[in-house]
Amino acid sequence: MIRAENVTFDYESMDEEGNVESRKRAVNHVNLEIQSGQFIAVLGHNGSGKSTFAKHINALLTPTEGTLWVEGMNTRDESELWNIRQNAGMVFQNPDNQIIGTIVEEDVGFGPENLGVPTDEIWQRVEESLKAVGMYKYRKHSPNKLSGGQKQRVAIAGVMAMHPRCIVLDEPTAMLDPHGRKSVIETVKKLNKEEGITVILITHYMEEVIEADHVFVMDDGNLVMDGTPREVFSQVEKLKELRLDVPQATLLAYELQKKGFPLRDGILSNEELVEELCQLKLKM
Ligand code: ADP
Ligand code: MG
Repeated sequence: MIRAENVTFDYESMDEEGNVESRKRAVNHVNLEIQSGQFIAVLGHNGSGKSTFAKHINALLTPTEGTLWVEGMNTRDESELWNIRQNAGMVFQNPDNQIIGTIVEEDVGFGPENLGVPTDEIWQRVEESLKAVGMYKYRKHSPNKLSGGQKQRVAIAGVMAMHPRCIVLDEPTAMLDPHGRKSVIETVKKLNKEEGITVILITHYMEEVIEADHVFVMDDGNLVMDGTPREVFSQVEKLKELRLDVPQATLLAYELQKKGFPLRDGILSNEELVEELCQLKLKM
């Protein structure tokens, strides 16, 4: 689905004559592959280059050096721009900046309309997308009156209606309360499982990462760790160095290990921790 080869990006600032005054490297020689249908989580401290990398996936940015392919299309190839944008949809942090329609169903229809989809099919897509995110009954509402989580689900429906193969969500739950967060994450998981859409979720909420197929960790523009959630979260010390949290159960298991409890590495959930502790009790 996605292949990055040596992707590097420098932000340049110009002086008044239009000469490059300074350069800031935001992404540094990143190599990675994402398979179709995967649920990917991306972690990293603020300023580590996550958003900059994400913007490469739908060709909002193109690499200063290196190459990125989406479904085999080079994002530098301008003749593929629309195909790339249609294949890889983006959802950002603030739903208010993404919703433009005054009625929910209109808003969701804008994307396919821009793609030149015939009217009958637009309405069909609007209906199925709103149903997929659980917002169909709000189709005649004004987006202004919705909660943050509901707005974000409408924004996701808007992307869905373009029939992308892949959705990139850049901290979509950062501005939501716990309830809104849960509804958005459940929606995203469902799209991944039931519709087979590749999901790339940038987040700093660890509980959103636990069920991912694969995790990438960025630091200062570099891809510094990658693996399954279990592989990544079993490296508690390294994550601490990168100023990242670990799931609570993982941290507790780690502290218990340090006190001499023979628990296995990479415990991710409370259930797993309880199970391990009960096993221990049996052995002792
Ligand atoms: P993240 O999403 O992980 O917080 P970003 O990709 O937003 O990281 O930023 C990576 C680095 O690039 C940071 O040092 C940030 O200050 C810098 N940066 C981001 N956007 C711009 C911009 N438009 N102009 C200049 N520098 C930027
Ligand atoms: Mg960001």
